[in-house]
Amino acid sequence: MSKNNGGIIFGLVGILIVLLLIAGFKSGTLNGNMIVSQLIAVVIIFALFIGFILLLKRIAPQPNQQQIQVEMNTGIEKDFIIRPITSNVTFKDVAGINEVKEELIEIVDFLKNPQKYRDFGIKLPKGVLLVGPPGVGKTLIAKALAGEAGVPFFYQSGSSFVQMYVGVGAKRVRDLFSKAKAQAPSIIFIDEIDAIGKARGNLRNDEREATLNQLLTEMDGFEGSEGVIVIGATNKVELLDEALLRPGRFDRRIFVELPNLQERIEILKVHLKGKPFKGNLENIAKMTVGFSGAALASLVNEASIYALKQGKRYIEESDFYAVKDKVLMGKKKLNTYSTKEKEILSYYQASKAVIAYWLGVDFERISLVKDDFKEEDKEIISKTEIMSKIETLLAGRVGVEEKFNEKYSNAHKDIKKARELAMKMIKEYGMGESLVGDDREVSKILDEAYKETKILYDSNLPLINKVYEKMLKDEVIHKEDIKKLQDEIF
Ligand code: ADP
Repeated sequence: MSKNNGGIIFGLVGILIVLLLIAGFKSGTLNGNMIVSQLIAVVIIFALFIGFILLLKRIAPQPNQQQIQVEMNTGIEKDFIIRPITSNVTFKDVAGINEVKEELIEIVDFLKNPQKYRDFGIKLPKGVLLVGPPGVGKTLIAKALAGEAGVPFFYQSGSSFVQMYVGVGAKRVRDLFSKAKAQAPSIIFIDEIDAIGKARGNLRNDEREATLNQLLTEMDGFEGSEGVIVIGATNKVELLDEALLRPGRFDRRIFVELPNLQERIEILKVHLKGKPFKGNLENIAKMTVGFSGAALASLVNEASIYALKQGKRYIEESDFYAVKDKVLMGKKKLNTYSTKEKEILSYYQASKAVIAYWLGVDFERISLVKDDFKEEDKEIISKTEIMSKIETLLAGRVGVEEKFNEKYSNAHKDIKKARELAMKMIKEYGMGESLVGDDREVSKILDEAYKETKILYDSNLPLINKVYEKMLKDEVIHKEDIKKLQDEIF
């Protein structure tokens, strides 16, 4: 029994005795030895006093005592073990996503030879944010980074910092950083960092805020050159508190997407390594549009089990077809597209890619599900440049509407962005008819952009069709590919 529980019981027993005594005096049964009864009363009042103090302490404990109590009573601190693992994953185990690996190679070198960078006074990022849907290999990449550099890997899930008791999360963050620093060079990986780093908004949550503040303090409190790299993973970068994204914190962001056709083939290869497989991997990759790396890994596993159960000596394509639906059912809300949906997406993205190319809106690659138009980092942007962006954003809708004679909901994000840009143009930058434009002018700008895009679409149709074919096949197009395809036309 804890000290506080004892206090409560002590107090309650005291109250009970006093009540009994009062009842005794009133009913006349206790009018004998007054001295003895007075003594009893003094002892009881004293006991009551102690009990009351202890009760108060329990109701309003000090943070430290609360923490100690958490540790003693529930043992949750015991569950929070900060122990690094030695990763034996290397970049070879991570298939596809070559651009992501390229971005990380510099960090591997830095972790291997921090002194070299220190001597030159080079500052490397302290924090890297891996952004992408679940199962695309964010954890795997972070582990590979640790494996390649040969440094300890501290894994924590964001949710393990979020506790009921104020101060516990912050303490855990502090402990994690101090251990990682003691073993530098090292990598801290915080999965689902949005659990701590969600934008604070109007709803106050003291515990989460204290934890987030501690994370910010820790990140500010060391130099990149100390050799600790913090990698955060999230699916929802837009939900993160801006403070986390400021320079010197998670200022480098790397987007990891669902794998395209070629990448799916490579991931299947990695997971089939050493297994007896006979068949064409491209066929399997083609029927798994929208599968993440994790879903592909579990597909390979299910197909192997299935083949074994059938008493086969080899895993064949047919085994993959047999278990595909099972894997799909097991995954919540997996993005898979029907043939028609894939055609719509491919045409949508192809139209955007060609019109962006034509208008000089910069990008490296555009995939079936994502584009990476470069954020403008110029101080001054012209009306023409903003118009080009708006037209690029409307190009998908224009193209699909022309080709399929129908409007589809997949355009909503681009339309929203186009509208936001038009609003800024008219209402903030004063680029309309008058300095302070209204909603009518915003619509007018959007209508103009739409008409202009339609003209661009008509004049680029042959190129769009070629890009569409490639997009349908590879699910991705690079800017250089567009140039090559254009050269083929002329
Ligand atoms: P995330 O952290 O993005 O949710 P994980 O890294 O946990 O994804 O991926 C889960 C598993 O899926 C990995 O352990 C691996 O088996 C498989 N996987 C995911 N992406 C890849 C990839 N690019 N290459 C090989 N395997 C992958």
